Amino acid sequence: MLKTNENLFNNAKKYIPGGVNSPVRSFNAVGGTPFFTQEAKDHYLIDVENKRYIDYVCSWGANIVGHANSHVIEQVTQAMSKGFSYGTPTELELQIAQEISKLVPSMQNVRLVSSGTEAVMSAVRLARGYTNKKIIIKFNGCYHGHSDSLLVRAGSGLVTFNNPSSRGVFEEVVKHTMVIEYNSVEELQRAFNKHPNEIAAVIFEPIAGNMNFVRPSKEFLQALVELCEKNSTLLICDEVMTGFRVGLGGAQELFKIKPDLTILGKIVGGGMPMAAFGGRAEIMQHLAPLGDVYQAGTLSGNPIAVTCGLTTLKLIQEKGFYPKLAAVTKQLMQGLMHAAMKHNIPFSGDYEGGMFGFFFTSNLPRNFIDVKQAPIVRFNYFYHLMLQHGIFFAPSMFEAGFITSKHNIDVINTTVEIADAVFRQLKE
Ligand SMILES: *Cc1c(COP(=O)(O)O)cnc(C)c1O
Repeated sequence: MLKTNENLFNNAKKYIPGGVNSPVRSFNAVGGTPFFTQEAKDHYLIDVENKRYIDYVCSWGANIVGHANSHVIEQVTQAMSKGFSYGTPTELELQIAQEISKLVPSMQNVRLVSSGTEAVMSAVRLARGYTNKKIIIKFNGCYHGHSDSLLVRAGSGLVTFNNPSSRGVFEEVVKHTMVIEYNSVEELQRAFNKHPNEIAAVIFEPIAGNMNFVRPSKEFLQALVELCEKNSTLLICDEVMTGFRVGLGGAQELFKIKPDLTILGKIVGGGMPMAAFGGRAEIMQHLAPLGDVYQAGTLSGNPIAVTCGLTTLKLIQEKGFYPKLAAVTKQLMQGLMHAAMKHNIPFSGDYEGGMFGFFFTSNLPRNFIDVKQAPIVRFNYFYHLMLQHGIFFAPSMFEAGFITSKHNIDVINTTVEIADAVFRQLKE
């Protein structure tokens, strides 16, 4: 049988639910057949039909130094020759913990795990164990992995308890998770007024990247910090996406906040299955074996994944790395916004470091309700035309975009030229 995306997808669906190992890859939101990647290099992907795409997904943000980075490959190859997993402590784990702690100083102690989901799940358990309180507050449209207690959708009433967002998660399991609107100081205040001594933690994305790209207001950040402090509630900053993405010290450096606990994933493993959570030593030391909050992992701190992450963390500290990354992102967003304006298409965009988001609306959304107002049909049409021309944006209106240090002005110019032609077509 001919090796085409179509054939592989049809075959994959016989053996893998939906043909994919993570739902968004299925193109469910935009329709059509996903392409199957055979290889990646620098800023592009090549599918099984040998078509090349400029990649603005970058493994959902995990890749920041470019695909198949030769320096990373060299280090990882060396590490592989020394064995894959030992089940004992290694010096590498110490090195990456020190490096993380240096770059994100609020993470005095760090524990390594294998996915963002696992990191969040563990941090939430730790927050509850440490505070001996039950309630977790999260924000509508923020994603923190697929652990049971966080698969919750906002209810109809304000500051009520909410409904599970997945079958198999029962009301009892999400009974202590509250969902409120991002950027709503009023709802946050109301939640604390209603449950002054019961809130273990507030978990948030410091720039929301799982409802496209939504920036927090100054007042919102200030309220988060103050209300948590006043109520002895832990502030958990989920920087799985923003960590090392919006800047070297993550969003917490950018916004000058000092969360009690921080979650890292994606970039921290450089494209290998690795994530981390950490924070104040006094809190982290409630984890086993020192404390009685249990958490463990056979492959945690895997030497190959850690080598990949550590090498990536070294590369992003090279002089000029982030200014260049930010300049290229800015070029992309300004180019897209100008092109849209030229064709009179309502369009807005925002960006920080190597992360961006755009909307077919005149004004930037402030929360999930706003994001959902954007015309999805127009996005999907735009998406497929761009894809046809070899530009790979995230296959959903509710996802952010990313670049790597290998994206350059030429690549951006090509993208903008194509977008210009596609915007013209959108108007027709
Ligand atoms: C991707 C993501 C996660 C989940 O990480 P996985 O490695 O996919 O489990 C959690 N939080 C945020 C903010 C994310 O973007």
